[in-house]
Amino acid sequence: MKGFFTILGTSSAIPAKDRNHPAIFFQYQGEAFLFDCGEGTQRQIQIAGHSFYKIGKIFITHLHGDHVLGLPGLLQTLDFHDKPFVEIYGPPGIKRLIELSTTQCFYINTQELKVEVKEIKPTDEIVTVLETDNYRIKTIGLDHTVDCLGYAFEEREKFKYDSKKVKELHLKPQHFKELEILGYTTVGGKEIFKSQLGELKKGFKFVYITDTYYTENIFKLTQSADYLVLECTYFDEEEYAREAKHLSFNIFREKIYPKLLELGVKKIILTHFSRRYKDLSLFEEEIKNLKMENVVIARDLLNFTF
Ligand SMILES: [Zn+2]
Ligand SMILES: [Zn+2]
Repeated sequence: MKGFFTILGTSSAIPAKDRNHPAIFFQYQGEAFLFDCGEGTQRQIQIAGHSFYKIGKIFITHLHGDHVLGLPGLLQTLDFHDKPFVEIYGPPGIKRLIELSTTQCFYINTQELKVEVKEIKPTDEIVTVLETDNYRIKTIGLDHTVDCLGYAFEEREKFKYDSKKVKELHLKPQHFKELEILGYTTVGGKEIFKSQLGELKKGFKFVYITDTYYTENIFKLTQSADYLVLECTYFDEEEYAREAKHLSFNIFREKIYPKLLELGVKKIILTHFSRRYKDLSLFEEEIKNLKMENVVIARDLLNFTF
């Protein structure tokens, strides 16, 4: 297992008794990220049994309260935990929000926590906002009532040796060392190139798209995703969806789901439900009737490993 993610909240604007405001706790090789940080996120992290201290980066989709009101409290807790540094990414305005909440609330006792904020202007093109040796974080603009970003976590592609070829040639550690450094090795007087021994394999891909009306940008970001967490605020209230710039299950079924299948998206997790739905059986029955076997209706604290 390389990592996991937990859906901490599945409500839209107003939380419900059993649905918290949005946030996703995402952990990869010991480092944790948060995607959004709605009110109540800290308690959900504790209930899920995850560690605050591991959170090094926070990615905010947009500045509507349901996605950011947990930030001031979380920053205070990270400070209490003597966390030295945290990076926050979000649309324009996020800097001011963090500045106000870390200077006008006198809650940061030790003042040791350094917060680096990076503002990203949403565009119709994919922008890589973070790149490490192991992964990339990409964003794209969505169609909401305020600036809003979709995020993709992409593990870097890795070279995979063909075990049959490796066995046939009786390759030893020294050969692999040469292949990694020089790109070729010599076996029985014959030069063999790394590219002959295997191929580059796509890494794990996770995409988070919330608070948007239908836009082609959804598809630009989701190509070959292993998991897509997608908002589905309404069931069939098209007018509400258009006005508040959200998705409905109808739009998902007719215009989005078929394209996601074409794009090779493996699993789709629907979330961000309006509180008008006391329970989510309406959505669950529909995905069963339509035999959408790779679609899941999210519940708070639902966990996925990869
Ligand atoms: Zn929202
Ligand atoms: Zn919103």
